[in-house]
Amino acid sequence: MDSDRTRGSLLGLACGDALGRPVEFNSASEISAEHGRLDEMAGHGTWNQPAGTITDDTEQALCIARSLVEQQDFDPADIADRFVAWYDSGPFDIGRMTMRSLSRLKHGDAWDEAGQYVWEQSREGQNAGNGSVMRCPPLAIPYASGWDRLAEVSRQASQITHADPRCTEGCAVLNLTVAGLLEDVDTPLQDALDYVGADAPDELVTALEPLARGDSPGTLETSGYVVHSLQTALHDGLVSDSAEEAIVTAVNRGGDTDTIGAIAGAVAGARFGASQLPDRWLNAIDETDELETLAKRLVDVA
Ligand SMILES: [Mg+2]
Repeated sequence: MDSDRTRGSLLGLACGDALGRPVEFNSASEISAEHGRLDEMAGHGTWNQPAGTITDDTEQALCIARSLVEQQDFDPADIADRFVAWYDSGPFDIGRMTMRSLSRLKHGDAWDEAGQYVWEQSREGQNAGNGSVMRCPPLAIPYASGWDRLAEVSRQASQITHADPRCTEGCAVLNLTVAGLLEDVDTPLQDALDYVGADAPDELVTALEPLARGDSPGTLETSGYVVHSLQTALHDGLVSDSAEEAIVTAVNRGGDTDTIGAIAGAVAGARFGASQLPDRWLNAIDETDELETLAKRLVDVA
């Protein structure tokens, strides 16, 4: 596997997360009024952090990557423990379903109980956020050539906090797409959708099939609903002419900027490679070196 692409997937995720962090929840017009076209790591803003600060998206992706490397296998109970340790560190940014699931895990639920319970207690409209798709791309590296296993581990990693089928299958589709990009296939999203087939919920297939065919979608939404976030981020990640353009486009749409930027960045990073991500971004992110090392070691896990 091309190591520039594997590194690009993790570093692209971090770049999108950190570029989007200061403008999370802002509209496109608010972003352009304050920044013009935001293409530099900015300080302050939403969450009032220094330029280049990553958020829960990359923090949880790091938990998954470190677990895979240290356990030399997919161990969902170990990943859940790492999520809880991160939760206990008092993160400034954490999603609602994630917080509720991690709180239950902390108080004794097994890794496959907490997310299921929280999902069953959540009503439609609040039960299928993007909190698991944003962190799942590290799984695509070790399991890139074993799609049964990749789909399975992607679903299970989602289930720790997000058990809705739109989330679990969303993680499978995203990771199969990233795996296809790492292996340089011609039609990565179509291959991913073909693979999950009838397992995927209709809302997800309806949103993603036009992208896979290369049709121009109508309006692209930027909410935290997993179907919206995936559709918009996959669009930007798959059609942009460069990794930088993919991430800048995704973030400047506004809305859930860090997460849509992170997903678009993971896709575009796997397409173009780490060498195509701007040095000025990578230098601003404290976790760049660790992400590079993890990406190299993830290749040898499976
Ligand atoms: Mg975030």
